[in-house]
Amino acid sequence: MALTNRSEQQNILTDKERISRDLLRWFRLHGRDLPWRVKGKAHENPYMVWISEIMLQQTTVKTVYEYFNRWMSRFPTIQDLANAKLEDVLLVWQGLGYYTRAKKIYECAQILVKNYQGKIPENRDELLKLPGIGPYTASSICAFAFNKPETVVDGNVIRVLARLYGMTHEVSKEEIYQLGQTITPKNEGADYASAIMDLGATICVPNNPLCEACPFNNYCIAYQQNLTDVIPLIKKPLKKIKTGFVYLIQNKAGDFYIEKREGKGLLSGLYEFPWQDSEDSYPLFNHNGWKKTNLTVTHTFTHFTLTLTIVCLRTDDENISSLRGEFVPASDFKNYPFSTLMKKVMKHVIENKKQ
Ligand code: SF4
Repeated sequence: MALTNRSEQQNILTDKERISRDLLRWFRLHGRDLPWRVKGKAHENPYMVWISEIMLQQTTVKTVYEYFNRWMSRFPTIQDLANAKLEDVLLVWQGLGYYTRAKKIYECAQILVKNYQGKIPENRDELLKLPGIGPYTASSICAFAFNKPETVVDGNVIRVLARLYGMTHEVSKEEIYQLGQTITPKNEGADYASAIMDLGATICVPNNPLCEACPFNNYCIAYQQNLTDVIPLIKKPLKKIKTGFVYLIQNKAGDFYIEKREGKGLLSGLYEFPWQDSEDSYPLFNHNGWKKTNLTVTHTFTHFTLTLTIVCLRTDDENISSLRGEFVPASDFKNYPFSTLMKKVMKHVIENKKQ
């Protein structure tokens, strides 16, 4: 039901100050309290803002709570982080995925200590020079940590603004950024960024938005014209499907062979059971004892989905010791950083041990 007539709605939508005012009023009453954001001002610890923003790019607030608290008790300052070993950093990050981001955070901490007296710069252009800090993170840090009128655009913001303005076409980030800039208030950058993200995360959710509780419901075009199911229009690229094998090699003592991934790729620096993402060269090396199981693990990466079949080998063959990794008991897995893919393989190991 339209609460205002069509021309009144259009007038309000051009009154950007009114929109940010309505949003901020709602935020003061209903916004979430989070350890990495404070209401009414900038957060006093830009380091916390930076780490939380990187973590939030890949998972939900609920999951980030646990990881964030563990991270801050292990590396309370940028100096502590810069002085740590990369392996310890990956161990704390373990399970969040996107390990390149953890490595970039670590690399960035070294640069901050070396060139910036261990402080995060306030300037957006300066922030963009640092590893792992792209336009979104730079804007978030400027807004949340320094209360600057920076326009942040994530999936939540896209959804709220596309619905509010009734954008039925496929919207781009740039388009939302331009629109968001006209709404972002000059003096309350931190609250505005928190408010619009909170609204998207708690009220203007993807399915069945809670429009009755929304501060924009009087003039939101998607709500008034029953378009919330079709806005925003997002085309998802089809993910490639890959298959391969993962090799569980056990020695006589029942320990498992693991190795550290070398190079600069996505999973480098993490430990793993040997694996390959093609079926061309199975088995890993010549041996009579390979046992292909019917167990598989599937993991979805950003651009593809990978399914690995588990292949087992139990041996004391001398040749195995020429591999570059090491044998460890399953009870020691917790001391090594593993990727989420490998944790799924470990689950099979642990379940089979129980049987
Ligand atoms: S009224 Fe509904 S669709 Fe419109 S912005 Fe609010 S929650 Fe989203």
